[in-house]
Amino acid sequence: MNDAASLRAQLDRLARNLRWFYDHPTRTLFQDLAAPLDGIAGDDPVAVVQALDDAALTRLTGDAAAMDRIRGLVAALDGELAGAPDLSDGARVVAYLSAEFGLCDPLHTYSGGLGVLAGDHLRSASDLALPLVAAGLAYRDGYFTQTVDAHGQQHAEPAPNDLEHSAAEPVVDRTGARLTVEVPMGDGVVMVQAWRVAVGRVPLILLDTDVAGNAPHHRDITRHLYGGDQDTRIRQELVLGVGGVRMLDAMGIQPALYHLNEGHAAFAGLERLGVHRREGKDLDGALSALREELQFTTHTPVPAGHDTFDHGLAEHHLRPLADHLGIAFEGLWPLATGGDFHTWNQTVLALKLAGRTNGVARLHGEVSRSMFASLWPDRPVEEVPIDHVTNGVHPTSWTGPEIAALLDAYVPGWRRGTDPAAWKLLREVDREVLWQARTRARGRLLEAVRARTAVRAARTGASAGGEGLDPEALTIGFARRFATYKRGALMLRDLDRLGAILGDDDRPVQILVAGKAHPADRDGQGVLRHLVDTSTDPRLKGRLVFIEGYDLELGGLLTSGCDVWLNTPLRPKEASGTSGMKSAMNGGLNLSVLDGWWDEAVSDQGPLAEEGIGWSIGDRSPVPDPAARDAADAEELYRLLAEEVVPTFHERDADDLPQRWLTMALDAIVLLSPVYSTHRMVHDYGVRYGVREG
Ligand SMILES: *Cc1c(COP(=O)(O)O)cnc(C)c1O
Repeated sequence: MNDAASLRAQLDRLARNLRWFYDHPTRTLFQDLAAPLDGIAGDDPVAVVQALDDAALTRLTGDAAAMDRIRGLVAALDGELAGAPDLSDGARVVAYLSAEFGLCDPLHTYSGGLGVLAGDHLRSASDLALPLVAAGLAYRDGYFTQTVDAHGQQHAEPAPNDLEHSAAEPVVDRTGARLTVEVPMGDGVVMVQAWRVAVGRVPLILLDTDVAGNAPHHRDITRHLYGGDQDTRIRQELVLGVGGVRMLDAMGIQPALYHLNEGHAAFAGLERLGVHRREGKDLDGALSALREELQFTTHTPVPAGHDTFDHGLAEHHLRPLADHLGIAFEGLWPLATGGDFHTWNQTVLALKLAGRTNGVARLHGEVSRSMFASLWPDRPVEEVPIDHVTNGVHPTSWTGPEIAALLDAYVPGWRRGTDPAAWKLLREVDREVLWQARTRARGRLLEAVRARTAVRAARTGASAGGEGLDPEALTIGFARRFATYKRGALMLRDLDRLGAILGDDDRPVQILVAGKAHPADRDGQGVLRHLVDTSTDPRLKGRLVFIEGYDLELGGLLTSGCDVWLNTPLRPKEASGTSGMKSAMNGGLNLSVLDGWWDEAVSDQGPLAEEGIGWSIGDRSPVPDPAARDAADAEELYRLLAEEVVPTFHERDADDLPQRWLTMALDAIVLLSPVYSTHRMVHDYGVRYGVREG
């Protein structure tokens, strides 16, 4: 590695494996390399390598320390790849199919929590060396980049994926030609090609219809993430489900199990059903073989989150597949309908085809069983075959460098381990050292927030807040999609109450808010406008600050730097939520409605059953009237903040340490990290898949 060309090749290898996103030393290398480059973000390593000219690389080859650092990182990557599991014939491979993957900010292949979870699933599978391959869609236009004007109006800026200049590589056959498979639809056959992205040891295959031989409207099928109409939607799902199964097969990968991450991928079941039929099984035989190889995870109790297609559209696009199966379309219809479900429903299809179905937290499992109970009219609701596997987050992706350094010192194996007992070793940490780590993480967050709000202020001409942020203040974070059920504006119901909490100069408190509203969701955009508008109310003294452009980087900064993580969904609509888990891993305390994972964590069987760590808003009793629920929850939120959260944070001992707070922060890390980790989650799935675990 002594000339510029070979150095470039080595850096390119580091940049193209998305392991850099969660490997802190690799990530900081690219940030350091990007620092002198104009207009290049450190969190886009492929762009950094492209921007380095030969002169810069030649200079670098003369820097012995830099070269040692790069050699060490390449060796670590090679060492990890050497332990990649066998995906060839005979291995018990799991194929994980998802419409979104949150991998890193330069690749806009996700819109929110579902995608971030899918990304974390792959990262943990890589850490644990699971034989897993993933498939998704190669969007040329990803989910939008958000800007918010002086009036609080959100603008959706395009977020293109320049696949030719990204970490993705074309999938080719033995002769070097692009591998393609065919997916039949109502108006003809669509050719699908693929890109391969490496996430540590896990390959992710992104399917793409932008193929020269396709009709122009077919080339656009995979263009927009969740951008199109129902016709585009069903076509995209055919590409994902049918194309996914066919592409893996064409690549010589024969999965033993297909994991459908949400109903978007349900057509994979129909494609596999066809394979079993062609092997000579009758329909019942094919269906029972299919049940053995299909795992389905449903992700939301909100009806709009379940794709439905009317009879005409479904028949138009699925008839070729039905022909392939040797049955009439009307024979497929009962597989995707039934009970209270009268139109083609992808969740129903997946539920009926898969042998194992799960929701993503205990409460969500329960809610899902009652949502779909009409499909099993002869069974009591508890026996509806939907279980739960609670979501998690990938530890090294979401633990900030300050707490990660403490874990490295006290908890051997935390990056890969699933032994919950090992985390207790962190209790040995000196309280002052822990407080310094928390303070540094908060400082790092506030610095980034100031930089981001300054960009917005310069663009909009208005003050964007952020000037008055206080590094010693209790910092509360709220970042999520502005869907109305998330009740992003609940905290604003009584501005006098909120002003009294934020306005106390002796006990400073500040709230940081971020999140996107779907471009078609007017109500959600209204909530955002209300928040941004209200943030300038004099009663709040500039201590409620909105930060535009919620992305993975900002998600990491907020969840590692905030002291309190606020979540106020309308129970039980939050299936799981994962940002609060990220906060807990960093010693943040959750202040949350009893919903999703939090409901389970503080329940009798949860890790916090005996402990008062964090705070719950409201109780589990059903309140029929949502307006009454809002009023009661807001009241409880103000009371908890004023009487418990703020006083505990600002209660200091002789050494100026908030001892009670630190006890809770430490317990949050120790008790919650091992449980709400994707290492634990993929282990739970592994028990069901019957695959060996790392
Ligand atoms: C973690 C994360 C999410 C999902 O968090 P929720 O609690 O489900 O809202 C969404 N977006 C980003 C950027 C994240 O980091």
